[in-house]
Amino acid sequence: MTPLIRAENLGKTFGASGGWFGGASDQVRAVDGVTFDVEAGETLALVGESGCGKSTLGRLLLRLIDPTDGTVRFEGQDVTRLSSAEMRLMRQRMQIIFQDPFGSLSPRRTIGQIIGEPLEIFGLARGRQARRDRVAQLLDQVGLPPAYMDRLPRQFSGGQRQRVGIARAIAVNPAFIVADEPVSALDVSIQAQIINLMQDLQRDAGFSYLFIAHDLAVVRHIADRVAVMYLGRIVEVGPKRLIYDAPQHPYTQALLSAAPEPEVDTISRRIILRGDVPSPSNIPPGCSFHTRCPIAQEICRQDRPPLAQVAPGQLAACHFARPNPIPVADAA
Ligand code: SF4
Ligand code: MG
Repeated sequence: MTPLIRAENLGKTFGASGGWFGGASDQVRAVDGVTFDVEAGETLALVGESGCGKSTLGRLLLRLIDPTDGTVRFEGQDVTRLSSAEMRLMRQRMQIIFQDPFGSLSPRRTIGQIIGEPLEIFGLARGRQARRDRVAQLLDQVGLPPAYMDRLPRQFSGGQRQRVGIARAIAVNPAFIVADEPVSALDVSIQAQIINLMQDLQRDAGFSYLFIAHDLAVVRHIADRVAVMYLGRIVEVGPKRLIYDAPQHPYTQALLSAAPEPEVDTISRRIILRGDVPSPSNIPPGCSFHTRCPIAQEICRQDRPPLAQVAPGQLAACHFARPNPIPVADAA
């Protein structure tokens, strides 16, 4: 079966080579040859520390930015080759929820106008009354009173604004939503509510999420599969159970050992790893994690490990990853 999305050798380099400011060090390889699928109806969590390329990867999938190399297929169609007119139609199928619900909503427009805009653009509700009716329905779906549609974003709390951002994203019946750290800016007590809402909406509508987060605790409940990113590359990907119970990459293991138990009240605690993430303008050779890896050997400094299968559906990019002994039936 064709996956909903297939990214192949997808890469993004920011900054021109030999540009005004000189040499290759101006270049930042934000996403470095990433290959993965998103299946219809699933939630793929994309996890990694700040600056590892998660948001850039999300934007590449939606073609909000153009890749430097590689392709993105959406339902089999290469979106990197679509004209802007074709891309506009495609936008209805792919939506984004931003981290900062306040920054992503225009302050002078009412909630009704904000949610109604995509309905108008895609001709999904013709006429003012039809649009208001649909907005009322959407507000109800995200747990806000329909009467709020004439209010302005500043009259809402952070959690309520994120509900508006979600209503706007689902208004056009998308097949795919990139949720870029949708709960990171919210109070811990609100995070679980928003995640539950996102899950309920997905259950009803059947769309897929790429759910971007900087730690593994946040995505524990919502993910079907987890991809771990480090310095622009996916270093491990697999079914949730295997990633949490039997991670094979030392970076995933470090993230998990630093992550708190999945209690709601500890969900926002920070991951602490030794050393700093190297600059993406100067990615270490070989395994890019070798400068921080507790078990690095000489080969790690020389040869880049491929992303290789360690269990059905689980892949890890480490020279010392071993076949995962957990039986598949238990891991489902
Ligand atoms: Fe560590 Fe080497 Fe594995 Fe990289 S390849 S994660 S440096 S052991
Ligand atoms: Mg980001």
